[in-house]
Amino acid sequence: MRAAVVGAGPSGFYTAEQLLAAGFEVDVIDALPTPFGLVRAGVAPDHPKIKSVTRVYAKTAHHERFRFFGGVRLGRDVSRGDLLARYHAVIYATGTSIDNRLGIAGEDRPGSHSATEFVAWYNGHPHYSELEFDLACHRAVVIGNGNVALDVARMLVLDSTELMPTDTADHAISTLRATGIREVVLIGRRGPAEAAFTNPELRELGGLARVDVVVDPSQLEGLENPTENARRQSLELLRNYAGHGTTSRSHRLELRFMRSPIEILGDGAHGRVTGVRVGINRLVCRPDGSVFAEPTGEEELIECGLVLRSIGYRGEPMDEIPFDERRGLIRNVGGRVIDDSGVCRGEYAVGWIKRGPSGVIGTNKKDATETVANLLEDAERGALNEPDEGLVAEAAGGWLLEQSPETVTWDGWTEIDKHEVASGESQGRPRVKLVRIQDMVDVARKRSGVPS
Ligand code: NAP
Repeated sequence: MRAAVVGAGPSGFYTAEQLLAAGFEVDVIDALPTPFGLVRAGVAPDHPKIKSVTRVYAKTAHHERFRFFGGVRLGRDVSRGDLLARYHAVIYATGTSIDNRLGIAGEDRPGSHSATEFVAWYNGHPHYSELEFDLACHRAVVIGNGNVALDVARMLVLDSTELMPTDTADHAISTLRATGIREVVLIGRRGPAEAAFTNPELRELGGLARVDVVVDPSQLEGLENPTENARRQSLELLRNYAGHGTTSRSHRLELRFMRSPIEILGDGAHGRVTGVRVGINRLVCRPDGSVFAEPTGEEELIECGLVLRSIGYRGEPMDEIPFDERRGLIRNVGGRVIDDSGVCRGEYAVGWIKRGPSGVIGTNKKDATETVANLLEDAERGALNEPDEGLVAEAAGGWLLEQSPETVTWDGWTEIDKHEVASGESQGRPRVKLVRIQDMVDVARKRSGVPS
């Protein structure tokens, strides 16, 4: 049985690992010449331990029935139909690559960016490396209270000793070292007890070399201690920050709760960001126990020169694969892709494009287990896709190598990896990333032959 996994991020690799264990031949394709998805292009550069999970994926890649075809984009180089004609199962592990929109005036002004863009830029994603961020202002506002919001806020205030030993892309290091930003204000629409960020990330802020973490104690007044352990700890951390007051540190990172952005202000109708008009909320508890933010009618203005919007990701429709527009996901039940007439034979989804952008990297392993279990059940009862035998043989040969001028195999990626690590050695950095696709392809092919 042959399976194609589309997307070489964590969920793609966990799926590949489990399919290999079940005896499948597995081809993993990715739009980029490099593997690892968000571990390479999303995880914050100052979190190297999280990135070390790639060793597990590399082990999977060395399996004799595994092949990698980087630089092959579904919808550009190969179609859904091409894959279904050649594989017994096609698993979409494409993640959620675009940002949710606030839907407020001024959202697209110069100086207002999605966290998606900023993260991809500092991580050297080749589609975002040419972007420019003007960090000359004094204050930045980050909208959202998730871990991505904390990542981007931290990146804005890291000092050189924290930034330099990382694999942050060179272009971003130059810009971040010259930043004028001294203050970052993070705004969350609900309260401290509802924030989506997790405790290790919240605690980490207190260890930043040149930063005072600021929480107005009045925001914590009257809050009861939650029964849930993690929530209680997070409140303790916030109380701790609130109790510290400010020191003589050069930078401030303020957590401001119960604030919703109403408008991003700027010079003229389309000019640069000058501030954010925010509405102050109160919290209301629904009968089902959920808590939502309701405007009080009061407003405040936060002056700033940069806005990063970090309010979650959503997936993009691809090549007529059934898509749930409302949720921004592939339509599926337990990972089986469905359309109006029922299950789409042999098509599966896994990871964020299946369940939405939630959880940590390891969550995708459990998620892959569910999808693969359903796939194997379908295989058992003869309900997988039935590809064309001649085309299956073609796919088993070199078909994918010829579908894109940018194709890079695992050997090619190994060359890129060696090149980047060697470039980083003299600077005491884990790697210096290549950020242009052509450079990646050139390095991949230099030593491993063409196509690599
Ligand atoms: P997230 O955890 O879902 O947080 C999204 C935030 O945006 C929430 O605070 C949400 O507030 C807010 N929001 C949504 N719509 C809004 C609106 N219209 N106006 C104002 N605020 C709005 O998403 P994320 O930060 O993008 O992270 C995605 C996943 O990756 C999460 O599971 C996260 O834990 C994970 N991640 C983990 C790490 C790590 O482990 N270090 C690092 C980065 C990301 P409400 O709660 O009120 O909806």
